[in-house]
Amino acid sequence: MSLANTVREHFVAEFGEAPAFIVRAPGRVNLIGEHTDYNDGFVFPLAIDRAAWIALRPRADASVFAISLDMNERRQLALDDLRRPAELTWMDYLAGVAWALTERGYALRGWEGVLAGDVPIGSGLSSSAALELAAARAFQCVSGFQWDAAAMALACQAAENEWLGVKCGIMDQMISAAGLPNRALLIDCRSLETDAAPLPEGTAVVILDTGTRRGLVDSAYNERREQCEAAARHFGITALRDIDSQTFAARAHKLGALSRKRARHVVTENDRTLRARDAMNDGDAARLGQLMIESHISLRDDFEVSSPALDAIVDCANADDACYGARMTGAGFGGCALALVNADGAASFVERVSACYIAATGNQPTLYVTRACRGAETVYP
Ligand code: ADP
Ligand code: MG
Repeated sequence: MSLANTVREHFVAEFGEAPAFIVRAPGRVNLIGEHTDYNDGFVFPLAIDRAAWIALRPRADASVFAISLDMNERRQLALDDLRRPAELTWMDYLAGVAWALTERGYALRGWEGVLAGDVPIGSGLSSSAALELAAARAFQCVSGFQWDAAAMALACQAAENEWLGVKCGIMDQMISAAGLPNRALLIDCRSLETDAAPLPEGTAVVILDTGTRRGLVDSAYNERREQCEAAARHFGITALRDIDSQTFAARAHKLGALSRKRARHVVTENDRTLRARDAMNDGDAARLGQLMIESHISLRDDFEVSSPALDAIVDCANADDACYGARMTGAGFGGCALALVNADGAASFVERVSACYIAATGNQPTLYVTRACRGAETVYP
């Protein structure tokens, strides 16, 4: 049964009538443009066909009552008395969104409903952004304000940063808010301008979850950030976004060897990300795949944020005939890679790459064929 039907049926069983609204908001995966966001650079995510869904109806009082089917819990919050508890729960994603929207001047009304999702939690596909944007849609349905994707993304990012206390850039919320079918979204992380580009016809995106989770990530992430900032200071620029790869190549010899590698990844990755847009607009899957392969090599050798598991699954994918290109995605040190493959060969690709990766590492991977889907929307009525 589809999740739309699941939340609808549970809603009817609980509330004795059909829901007034059903909303959904997707998770995401980043096609190319890694560790570029905090350098004011470019990212290129797509919204995936896994989402958080809410069936709901308005409430007369200023409260939200929600049933999470995945957590098997019911929780309530008072919109006129929002508090950040010591121990955060899934309801705090809703509370944080309510808080951020209220701060921005939206007058919110209450609602009650049933929530379920199929974005795997904690595997790097941003189930949290999906939940936040679904909550924003739910508030919009009952409160009747205009939906502005960028404004909603910024509010949900503020919820994640300030209510949940999780540092993240704008990518996850922006793509969950503004994703389009069969399109990836180039996001300029400085201006927040977006530009949608079509995935090449006849291709599919496969998410390759290594089954390993990042350990080192926080300290290594902070170290990389500092190295990038130091390199920008060296060049007398605001961020590494402000130097092109030719100028960088001419001037990089004055940087220390380690800073040079770190900065080279960011500068060349921004360049690859912009070239990926051209490849997509030309419908050139081979060129897009080659840029993904180069992105992985740069993340592995220059930025040094890959891992043996990520390298193994990427190598298995790239060796496969159906694959145009594969790379690690997300912060690194574990988690997911993704591959651009021939759509007709996607199912057998999944079989072969799973077997190859198990043979190489002994780990159990999870592979999903996905497609680019629309961002947060009201699907009913
Ligand atoms: P991710 O990498 O998937 O975004 P996070 O740790 O950022 O992982 O967010 C996961 C949290 O979001 C969960 O612990 C839960 O509180 C909330 N969440 C995500 N999806 C759901 C869901 N379908 N139902 C209830 N809570 C969810
Ligand atoms: Mg998250």
